[in-house]
Formats: sequence, C-alpha cells, structure tokens
Amino acid sequence: MSQPLVLPDTPDAASYKDVWTFTEYVEGELFQTSFEAIAAARKIASMTNMRVGTVIVGYKIPQEVIDSLIWRGADYVIVVDNLELERYNPLTYASVLAGVARERKPWAFVFVADDIGRDVAPRVAYRLKTGLATDCIDYEMGEIYQGVVGQTFKNVLAQVRPDFASRIAKIFTPRHRPQISSMRPGYFKPLPEDRSRKGEVVRVQWKVAEEELKRFQILEVSRLPDEEGVELLTADFVIGLGLGVVRRTKGEPDPKLALDLAMKINELLSSRLKVKTAIGASRALVWAEIRGLKDFITPGRQIGQTGKTISPKVYVAAGISGAIQHKVGIIRSKKIVAINTDPNAPIKDMATYMINEDLYDALPKLYESLKRRLE
Ligand SMILES: Cc1cc2nc3c(=O)[nH]c(=O)nc-3n(C[C@H](O)[C@H](O)[C@H](O)COP(=O)(O)OP(=O)(O)OC[C@H]3O[C@@H](n4cnc5c(N)ncnc54)[C@H](O)[C@@H]3O)c2cc1C
Repeated sequence: MSQPLVLPDTPDAASYKDVWTFTEYVEGELFQTSFEAIAAARKIASMTNMRVGTVIVGYKIPQEVIDSLIWRGADYVIVVDNLELERYNPLTYASVLAGVARERKPWAFVFVADDIGRDVAPRVAYRLKTGLATDCIDYEMGEIYQGVVGQTFKNVLAQVRPDFASRIAKIFTPRHRPQISSMRPGYFKPLPEDRSRKGEVVRVQWKVAEEELKRFQILEVSRLPDEEGVELLTADFVIGLGLGVVRRTKGEPDPKLALDLAMKINELLSSRLKVKTAIGASRALVWAEIRGLKDFITPGRQIGQTGKTISPKVYVAAGISGAIQHKVGIIRSKKIVAINTDPNAPIKDMATYMINEDLYDALPKLYESLKRRLE
C-alpha cells in the first residue's frame, strides 16, 4: 500500500503572528467588503490576542483610504505602492502578497471570497505552500487530531464554511502557516468608523520581478454592466421563489403567475413605503429554467451558498424547502416568513413566521392584507 503523502510542516510555525487581511483597492476604488474582512480578522484576533494588519497594494493610494482601514479596525496597514501595481494583475499581486507574507509571517490571512479574492488567494496559498479554506462564514478556535501523523494540534483556526449536503464544515490548516481563508461577503458586519483610532502605516518597497511582469500583460480593462439581481444585496424586502412554484394543491401550477404575484407585492411596498424590494430564487428554481420565468429568474438572482448573501429586513421564502446551501444566503435576514405546504420543511428552523399554505393562496392573501394595512 502506498504511503500517505505528508508535506513537511512550516518549519518555524511558532514565529507566525497576527491576523492579516487583503484590502481590495482597484482602479481607485476601495471595495467596501474589505472592511468586512477586517471585522472577520478582528474576531480571530480577539480569540488569539493578536493584532490585525491589512495589506493594500496599488499606486498613489490616497492617505484617506489608508486611514479608513485603521478607522475600521486595522491596527496596522502594510502599503505596497508602486507604479507597476497600478492595475490589478493576479500574478504580480499574488507575488507581492506572498512575498510580504513570507517576510513578515502572519498567523492567518483573510481574503474576501469575491472575484478578486477568488483569483488571488489560491495563488498566494500555493506560493506559500499552505492551505486555503474558501467561502468561510465564521471562525472559531479549535483542535484537531490528524491520524496521518498521529498528532493533536491545539489552538488552530477552525475555518467554518458550508459543505455539501446539509453540513457545515470546519477546515483546519494545522501544520502550515499562514492559515489562509477567503471570507464570504455578508457575514461580518464592518465595524463602525472610529476616526479617533490610531494605527501604524508600514510602507514596503517591493520590486516586482521582471519575469512576473512579462508573464501576464493587461491590454484592456472593461467593466461589465451591473449584474442582474444586484438589487438583492441592498433590498429591505426580498421574496425568494423556490421549486414549490411548480406544484399546486388545487389546480394547475402557473410559475409565471407566482412571479407576477411576488412582483405585485413588491410594487405595492416600493410605491407605498418607498422600501427597496427585490426578487430572488433558490438554485433549484434557477436551474429548472422554467418557461415564462427563465428570462427573469437568472443565475444572478440565486440566493445561497453559490449565489448571493442577502440581509433584508424581511425575507419571504415561497415554496423553498430551506436546504443548508440556501440558508447560508439568508442567515442575515432580520425576519423570515416561510410559505410552505410542508409544516416540517427545514426552513422552519430559521423562520420567524411559518405560513403552512399553498403559495398560490398565500401570496394573494399577503398582497390583500398589506394593501388593506397600507390604505
Ligand atoms: C454545492 C451546492 C451548492 C448549492 N448552492 C445553492 C444555493 O446557492 N442556493 C440554493 O438555493 N440552493 C443551492 N443548492 C441546492 C440546494 O441543496 C437545494 O437543492 C435547493 O435549495 C432546493 O431548492 P428549493 O427549496 O426551491 O426546492 P425543493 O427542495 O424541491 O423545495 C420545494 C419546497 O416547496 C414546498 N412546496 C411545494 N409546493 C408548494 C406550494 N404550492 N406552495 C408552497 N410550498 C410548496 C415543498 O414542501 C418544499 O419544501 C446547492 C447545492 C449544492 C450541492
């Protein structure tokens, strides 16, 4: 039988300290999710008694941007400011981030699980010969027994993420440092801005190697139009439609009617209460590509682990069972109203109110009762 592959441990693991984040600053824009990463790092730092550092890379980065990272919770900011880094380039950025981390040795390094974080974090992890836990929604301290080496590792970071089926997985990087993860946007609230906070600014001179610059050249940058369903991220009231739209207790199901009913409720609320409303869907409904819905219920409207994370004041889940992959996308909703013909559907664990009724009956009733109240 072949021997299990055991990579050598990070030789000086004990010398690693502090929790770092990567601040995304692209084309003059500071991505607000970087503040969420700092909030996540603060949580880890509070459990480990460490400091929070953040690395920002770019060219002519304004002082106000650097200060804002300290006001939002960083103890120090590592600034790599260099003409060659003016534009985001996954290879040069990964080389800088890995190089700075190799020299300064952070204990944990948190990226945002967005387009840039997903692009650069694995490259950094690979260069540092360490692991990467993607799409984390929480962090805990834990211990893990590794049978391969017959050793228990204590005080390691449990990087919590949704797994397949209905499980939550805790990913450990016990033997390598730094412990790198990407954090799903929407799970850590940015800390309030405190302009009296003081921190250190560490300017690092970094010469990008000539061959790194040659390997990847940016010829043109173009911005995509706003993604469909982007309003889900900021809406106060969201209706999510699920595969329940293809079943009806009495009569023929009519998914287009279900969508129209949801839209009617949203229009009522947005016109009368001036609240931001949006319509989302479960992955099962998006993938079903149902005639009459598929032009509107697109992948951009998917809520959940592989879709968007929403945080409305009210979320109405109509005909959605409540699989864990859906739940992780709605966990930050203040109130959840579930409309489901099955009183034991898993969504009930999270629902503030459970309406045990056919959505084709419940949505018109909801509309009428809201209309009466608003009148
Ligand atoms: C790696 C991975 C990633 C995933 N990512 C996501 C994700 O991001 N988002 C996501 O949503 N899912 C995701 N899924 C899929 C997820 O596991 C579920 O399959 C999916 O969420 C189920 O969708 P649903 O609730 O609409 O359908 P179903 O599970 O079929 O549930 C339909 C519900 O509607 C109820 N119902 C039926 N008829 C009616 C009616 N007339 N009125 C009212 N209620 C009715 C039923 O009782 C049932 O509870 C992922 C799965 C995997 C493996």
